[in-house]
Amino acid sequence: MARIAILLNDRCHPKECQWECQAYCPPVRMGQECIVEGPTGKPIISETLCIGCGICVHKCPFDAIKILNTPEANPAEIVHRYGYNGFRMYRLPLPPSRGITGLLGPNGTGKSTALRLLSGSLVPNLGDYASAPDWNRVFEHFRGTSLHAHFERVAKGELRAVVKPQYVDAISEVPGTVREYVAGAGGTAEPILEALRLAARGDRRLSELSGGELQLAAIARTLATDADLYLVDEPSSYLDIVHRLEVARVLRRLGETKGVLVVEHDLALLDYLADQAHLIYGEPAAFGVISHPIPMRSAINTFLTGYLKDENVRFRAEPVRFVAHPPKASARADVLVAFPDLEKEFPSFHLRVSAGALAKGQTVGVVGPNATGKTTFVRMLAGVEPPTRGSPPAGVTVSYKPQYLKATQPASLRERSAALASDPTFDTARFERELVPGLHLDEILDVALTDLSGGELQRAAVALALARTATLYLLDEPSAYLDADERMAMARLVRRQVERQSVSALVVDHDVYFLDLACDELMVFRFDAPDGSRGRGDGPFAMREGMNRLLSEVQITFRRDAETLRPRINREGSALDREQRARQEYYYEAPA
Ligand code: ADP
Ligand code: ADP
Repeated sequence: MARIAILLNDRCHPKECQWECQAYCPPVRMGQECIVEGPTGKPIISETLCIGCGICVHKCPFDAIKILNTPEANPAEIVHRYGYNGFRMYRLPLPPSRGITGLLGPNGTGKSTALRLLSGSLVPNLGDYASAPDWNRVFEHFRGTSLHAHFERVAKGELRAVVKPQYVDAISEVPGTVREYVAGAGGTAEPILEALRLAARGDRRLSELSGGELQLAAIARTLATDADLYLVDEPSSYLDIVHRLEVARVLRRLGETKGVLVVEHDLALLDYLADQAHLIYGEPAAFGVISHPIPMRSAINTFLTGYLKDENVRFRAEPVRFVAHPPKASARADVLVAFPDLEKEFPSFHLRVSAGALAKGQTVGVVGPNATGKTTFVRMLAGVEPPTRGSPPAGVTVSYKPQYLKATQPASLRERSAALASDPTFDTARFERELVPGLHLDEILDVALTDLSGGELQRAAVALALARTATLYLLDEPSAYLDADERMAMARLVRRQVERQSVSALVVDHDVYFLDLACDELMVFRFDAPDGSRGRGDGPFAMREGMNRLLSEVQITFRRDAETLRPRINREGSALDREQRARQEYYYEAPA
């Protein structure tokens, strides 16, 4: 058993506290140098003198310390360590020479670090963070394994690895057009622009693109580059279901001749995309252990069950369960919000939404391609976008979580909720007792919102939205930036909150597992003109009909996994795929 003491550098502000970590540390009070000031002015916590009491963890006003025991991790397997009290990575994924390998695990457990190590942009220090990088030690460490040959080629500059970065927002600041950017790494732009249907936008400036278009441009550039190994970090962010599948198809084609390693949290997509996966377990920001490679179907089943048999590691208390049959259609008697036909005319887009009703206690998914008007519809109901025709229902109070989040104030979540305590529409008790624990926000309550990662900010924003008293909750892409575990926890929590309060929620999202777990019904949006200038929204429909409407547009069918009952995308043209299309059953088994 190894004890690990982690100092989260970004959160530690040694000039703004009383050094509570040191002042209250029992070994320090006994005269031992368990916590001392390091050369950067921040504390260094000795892992040998630490007794694991956890007092510093609780006393730190910025939640900057983690102390934990790691029965699972073998110190001899450390491949990289960021500093004495820094994050540690145990083992590495095996980069395939051909085919697609997935990497699946919680945020902050080292997936991006693993990609950097494999690409050679970071030389593995094997735990010795103080010495200069040394390839000979790396070769020695990996002797007799396939990573040995990999790193020899990396060290000699013989292996060309290309990375699709996780965050694509920054690309919008690159000058030039989409076509120039995609060809920029020495590749040929045209075929991949065609394959991703970006050709029509090839002459646009990057600064004019939406999030989804930036993602496609980043993927296109990576794929246009001639390399031996392709490292693709979160290709689905900002993409709708149609584009997720298109990207999957393009990556699979690449995998026929090249090696591809993909980090992805959309489980339906990863399942369809990859041949095998490494699971990662550990503690976010503290350590991450890479499992052996597992064939794809068992990898996701293992992930959902939460128990890695080979290594005897349990990483989830309760398995995630799916049900094979759609939820029973509710008696529509308990209507909470009824809305009439609504229309919105923008200069170059016309949206029509047919009248519908939301029932008490129901979470309704809002699905469909990007730019079909989902956000506009939500904004009309929220009263922030006046409809051109039809009026939004009166007397409905709405709590809205927008798609794009930006923290502007340095306040922490605790300060934010304290400031809202006097607001009669903010339910402090619900926030503290249900939402903070349910979304695992305890650890980041005292961190400035501006310092939170994308996934942390998302969870904070959803908690603040759900803490408002409202009849209708509107959550626009709550799964964005979340890892697969957080998505499933979020799905359950939204559903439970809505049921308990007998209110209603509309959730815009593209992750099928998230929708399956969270929703009772679906509203389906689609283009109503070939040039994309008109959109239309219908529903809500029962899950089965909603899924059939959505999936028939994109021509994808799902089957059920026998063991976990989770939905799995059928291979195009497989016997099952053809048979289900003929029956027009895209998602659920036909009712008996
Ligand atoms: P993931 O991709 O799984 O979210 P990362 O590989 O980005 O995880 O990061 C894992 C942990 O390593 C982070 O929580 C962060 O604390 C730490 N880390 C990442 N990069 C650095 C760095 N350059 N210096 C110090 N710590 C880092
Ligand atoms: P979705 O949420 O399905 O991606 P949106 O509702 O965001 O779709 O957008 C639908 C269409 O309406 C897009 O073509 C968008 O450019 C257009 N649109 C949205 N808001 C405005 C606005 N304020 N002014 C002009 N056009 C808009």
